[in-house]
Amino acid sequence: MPIERERLDGDVLIVGAGPAGLACALRLAQLAEGDRKQGRSAAVLPENVYVLEKGREIGAHQLSGAIMDPRGLAELVPDFRRSAPLGAPVSEDAVYFLTETAARKFPITPPPLRNEGNYVVSLSRLTKWLGDLVEQAGVNIFTGFAGAQPIYENDGVAGVLTDDKGLDKQGQPKANFTAGYELRAKITVMAEGSRGSLTRALVDRFHLGGLNPQLYAIGIKELWDVPDGRISPGSVAHTLGWPLDGHTYGGGWMYGLEERRVSLGLVVGLEYHNPLFDPHAAFQRMKTHPLVRSILDGGKLVRYGAKSLPEGGWYSMPRPYVAGGLLIGDSAGLLNSQRLKGIHIAIMSGILAAETIYDALGAADTSATRLASFERRLEGSWIHEELWPVRNFHQGFRNGLRSGLFHAGLQMITGGRGLADPIRVGPGHLEYQKLAGNQWKPLERFRGDGKLTFDVLTDLYHSGTRHDDDQPCHLHVLDPDICVTRCVAEYGNPCQYFCPAMVYEMVREDGKLRLKINAANCVHCKTCDIADPYQIIVWVPPEGGGGPNYEGM
Ligand code: SF4
Repeated sequence: MPIERERLDGDVLIVGAGPAGLACALRLAQLAEGDRKQGRSAAVLPENVYVLEKGREIGAHQLSGAIMDPRGLAELVPDFRRSAPLGAPVSEDAVYFLTETAARKFPITPPPLRNEGNYVVSLSRLTKWLGDLVEQAGVNIFTGFAGAQPIYENDGVAGVLTDDKGLDKQGQPKANFTAGYELRAKITVMAEGSRGSLTRALVDRFHLGGLNPQLYAIGIKELWDVPDGRISPGSVAHTLGWPLDGHTYGGGWMYGLEERRVSLGLVVGLEYHNPLFDPHAAFQRMKTHPLVRSILDGGKLVRYGAKSLPEGGWYSMPRPYVAGGLLIGDSAGLLNSQRLKGIHIAIMSGILAAETIYDALGAADTSATRLASFERRLEGSWIHEELWPVRNFHQGFRNGLRSGLFHAGLQMITGGRGLADPIRVGPGHLEYQKLAGNQWKPLERFRGDGKLTFDVLTDLYHSGTRHDDDQPCHLHVLDPDICVTRCVAEYGNPCQYFCPAMVYEMVREDGKLRLKINAANCVHCKTCDIADPYQIIVWVPPEGGGGPNYEGM
């Protein structure tokens, strides 16, 4: 029997309360207020703008390094320095090349990694603050609600169905069942972050993909409290080399925050060759390097998290509009992988989306032709100025670090053109090499010493992740047979290694191998949706309110 749903109609529906979505909501409210002050009627009233957030509260699912270039925030809230939780201003920059036992400091910090004027922030705190401004401006924010499915209409999008609450493992209603809402809007904005499930559906249905497929990385992060005097607030260090081999894209970071707190992590491109590579274990090994250990020794792990990042750049961006819909922030692939920054661009993309929406609703025209002006706005903004010269950056590393650095140098002096423009690449999951013919052996799970290094489950405990166990599995494996036939033989089931939350385990029961899915562990990083070699894992949102709690991250 079809489920009866309550219907709500708004003007604008924004899916995701990250920096992009909240910036879009706030700028819409500012535009309405500007018209009101001028005695004009507003094209959109804040009370007709809805923001959906699947986290239990704003900021709960927000994770980033994070160094913020304040440029985007200055456009949105010019006096942001008065009240924004800015963390520590960057006081020093360094880049190191690591071998297993030594660290060689670059004599000068490459310009893209200089951070004077930027801030080491907690993205979770920043979005909480932005969320308060958005609510004070009269916009409706629904936390604990996920966008489960797009509503399609007239060759475009007309809103979303929110998640049904209170279904059991078999999908049957429990006593507390509540049907999701049918939330309709004249314009729906996908601000879901990296590899959003609704965004993916739109990209597939309307063929929005860019010239290159999107290229992703996984970022794994820990926050530590360390003894006095180990690192000064605002001290920023980036690392290349060990524990990654010369073929694997990525690097580490270590940022000093206020009150003896340190943010550290590792980013790894999801196009590595060894299907048994374990990014979490690599990050743990990174902490045993003398440079990192000297800061952490005697300290205490405070929080843990992981997320994917869209790193492909301008040539991997999907077309960011359809009839009745826009894609912004990480959902639109808007991130500068060379500078390792996206918050400022996400905010600016939200501002430009709001201006596009305001004009479109003022003209009562939400067609794709009208909303195409969003793309032109992006192209005419500093977002394009910043991303165009690095359009081939990540792709230049496809053949390893050495050739990547060569390409990056050449691109810097040729405005991004380098030796080839565009550098065409395929999706990262095609880069796995099969086990046959290679020396790779299945690894023992990394255990850690419990002081400096940790196993996945100990780390996971520090992510605050919580889901109701009795709900339908939100990780859809489209053909589980492949896991126990082809994947185990060809690739050794990489999902067991790339998942930073130990969701996937191959277990033997009654002499038969099967894939066990510990869905309640999921930190919503989407790596499985991206990196599965057969592309048979589809991540869909679990019941809203579940997932990690990245408070302070
Ligand atoms: Fe990330 Fe997928 Fe593991 Fe969840 S199940 S933590 S989305 S890799």
